[in-house]
Amino acid sequence: MSEITLLVTEKQINSLISSTREYLPYESCFLLLGNIVNSEYRVSILKYMDNIANSEYSFIMDPDQIIKVYQWASNNELEVIAVYHSHLDGARPSSTDVIFMQINELIWLIYEVSSSQFKAFILENDTLKEVKIKISKG
Ligand SMILES: [Zn+2]
Repeated sequence: MSEITLLVTEKQINSLISSTREYLPYESCFLLLGNIVNSEYRVSILKYMDNIANSEYSFIMDPDQIIKVYQWASNNELEVIAVYHSHLDGARPSSTDVIFMQINELIWLIYEVSSSQFKAFILENDTLKEVKIKISKG
């Protein structure tokens, strides 16, 4: 069994960071679309999502916008493979995040603004597991 890996490009990482910094101090959120090949989650498209909570400590995605992104993904033969959001401090999922992770069994990519670091997690049988992030050039 191979280890789950999130594959993103340097360019995608940079756009997540710049978009997140623009929206500070509020949390930013994105849905990440791509394909899963074996255990590799390969991100190809970033979909910016409004944080309708407008909050520094939480995020809520607009349900209509979520439906549109899922439709767009399926029309383009892509899957929603990860949820991205930012934290001012701490790169681990909050207790609220973990509750939503139970509903959305995807990779959760979190960017900690204070340290400028990314961490990714997945919930496996109710256990939080850190996922390896592989950043490719381009
Ligand atoms: Zn969070």
